Parts: sequence; structure tokens; C-alpha cells
Amino acid sequence: MSSNQELLQKFKNNISNNTKLSNYSWFNLGGPAEYLFKPENNNQLKEFLKDNKINKHKITILGAGSNTLIRDNGIKGVVIKLGANFSQINLIDKNTIVAGAAALDRKISNFAKDNGIGNFEFLSCIPGSIGGAVIMNSGCYNNDISKILISISTININSCEEKEIMREEIQFFYRDTNLSKDLIITSVKLKGNTDSPENIQKKQKNLIEKKKLSQPSQVKTCGSTFKNLNSEKKVWQLIKENGCHNFKVGDAIISEKHCNFFINNGKAKASDIEKLINKVKKTIIDKTGINLELEIKIIGE
Ligand SMILES: Cc1cc2nc3c(=O)[nH]c(=O)nc-3n(C[C@H](O)[C@H](O)[C@H](O)COP(=O)(O)OP(=O)(O)OC[C@H]3O[C@@H](n4cnc5c(N)ncnc54)[C@H](O)[C@@H]3O)c2cc1C
Repeated sequence: MSSNQELLQKFKNNISNNTKLSNYSWFNLGGPAEYLFKPENNNQLKEFLKDNKINKHKITILGAGSNTLIRDNGIKGVVIKLGANFSQINLIDKNTIVAGAAALDRKISNFAKDNGIGNFEFLSCIPGSIGGAVIMNSGCYNNDISKILISISTININSCEEKEIMREEIQFFYRDTNLSKDLIITSVKLKGNTDSPENIQKKQKNLIEKKKLSQPSQVKTCGSTFKNLNSEKKVWQLIKENGCHNFKVGDAIISEKHCNFFINNGKAKASDIEKLINKVKKTIIDKTGINLELEIKIIGE
């Protein structure tokens, strides 16, 4: 039996071959994964990674895919997407929550509300998983993950070692951290402050309403395409002022409501979105000298 057949045989309930990935990205785009592995728990994940020391497949980690454009020819090697058991959310003490890295931000925000833990309201506006939120240092309305994080539990892709990393050991930047790309976050500890569920619900509602007014909903997008700059001007303003907001490539368009949101308007290919990104980037650099940095991740062939 070839090592690839052994891989499929050994993890047969959790691995698939040549699997369509478009359902795993908010753009609803992207070719297949050579292998898609959804581990059930830490032990199975470690066992897989140990075997991979021999198989040497390239590993790609996917969260909820709300910040990731997957290219049309898909992803070589193994895409790891944490299985359903990594979505559990539990209380450790009065104001501290532990959540599996695949738990959705919105669900954690609601769990915190139900348990009278405040300062997690902003998570109700971010559509990803908490693992992805740590990697991206996601946030909005003056809050971000770094402000509520206690620690992350991780498994190293190469050494297969489990390690808890404390918040103080991590450097957080705007939508980025200095965490090694070799780490899979398996769970996250977060701390908030005591508040009443009624008050928290009000705050959540306000933030969600605010977002609805300024950003498109019910569209195929991965949110802000470029990182905001360290300046007075937001990227959406730069895009508008430099006439890029009407750009389109095939069915890849720019949201009228928020021109840093790029949209698959139905029939776009991932390459159309990427071409649109490059067209805007080139126009902005030619006209202003500003080199926009991507916030979304582009992966695959
Ligand atoms: C409509 C919309 C609104 C948005 N609004 C906001 C906003 O207000 N603020 C904001 O910050 N973002 C926003 N985003 C972007 C996005 O939701 C966040 O970046 C989110 O935290 C990404 O999480 P994810 O699980 O979807 O990550 P993915 O897109 O799946 O992955 C992002 C990165 O994290 C890595 N990753 C994911 N999980 C793990 C893990 N367990 N271990 C190691 N690495 C991992 C991936 O490899 C990748 O590099 C928005 C997106 C959309 C579609």
C-alpha cells in the first residue's frame, strides 16, 4: 500500500481526498484540497502529525475561512480543519472561558453573555473561529482579542509538542501576531469582567446594528481586504478617493457600502478577486505611493 493510501485508510473517518474547498471560504471560492483532515481531538491530531514526519505533506490550517481566499487550483498537501469537538465552550471560573479553537466568535460572545461575562461583545461582530481570531488579532470598535486573551494551547506541526503559551509571551500587532506559522491553536482561554446579561445583550445589539449600517451583509466576502493604515485615512477612503471603488473583474466587485470589502457577486473565480486586488493595489501605489498590505490571506495554487 502506498503511504497516501495508508493515510486514507488510517484516518478514514476524518480524512478525504480531492475535496472541494469552496464551501470552506466566505468568498465561496477555491479549488479542492489534495487532502482535507478534520481531527477529532488532540491525540488524533498529534498522531497524524507524527505520521506526517514521514509523509511530509505540506500542512495548511483553515479556521472558518472568513479571512481566506483559496485559489482556483486548490491546495496541495493536507488542509487541517479542526473537527466539531474543537468547538466546545466551557466556563473555568466566574469570568474565564476556555473554548476550542474552532468555536465561533459569535457563539463565544453569546456564551459569555449567558454567563454574565462582559467585554466579549465585539466578538458577536466577527464571523470567524476563535483560533483564526487569535492569529489575526481580530477586533472591532476599539477592542481586539489581545485584550481578553489569557493563553492559547497549541500543537507544533513539526515537533508535535503541546504547549500552553501565555498572552504575555505573544506580541500582538494590528491584525497580526508574532506567533510561529508552525503552531496549530487547539484551544483558547479568555477573561472578561462581570456584567449583567441584559446589559451585555444591549451592547451586542448596538455593535451589530452599527456594523450593519457600515458594512455589507449577506454577500460573499472576507471582510476588509487590506489592512488599515497608521494614518487618519482609512483604506476605504483611499480606495474611493482614487476612483477604485467602481473597479470590477468579471463577477469580482467592490462593495458600494464599504469599499474595502471585495465581493464574489455570484460567478467570480478566485483569480478574478485576486486580479481586482492587484488592480486596486497598483492604482493606489501609482497615485499615492502607498503600498497597501493585505489583511486577507491568499492561499493555494
Ligand atoms: C463580513 C465579515 C466581517 C468581518 N469583520 C471583521 C472585523 O470587524 N474585525 C476583524 O478583525 N476581522 C473581521 N473579519 C475578518 C475575519 O472574520 C477575521 O479575520 C476572523 O478572525 C478570521 O477567523 P477564521 O477562523 O475565519 O480564520 P481563517 O480565515 O480560516 O484563517 C485566518 C488565518 O488564521 C489561521 N488559523 C485559523 N485557525 C487556526 C488555528 N486553529 N491554528 C492556527 N492557525 C489558524 C489560518 O491559517 C489563516 O492564516 C470579517 C470577515 C467578514 C467575512
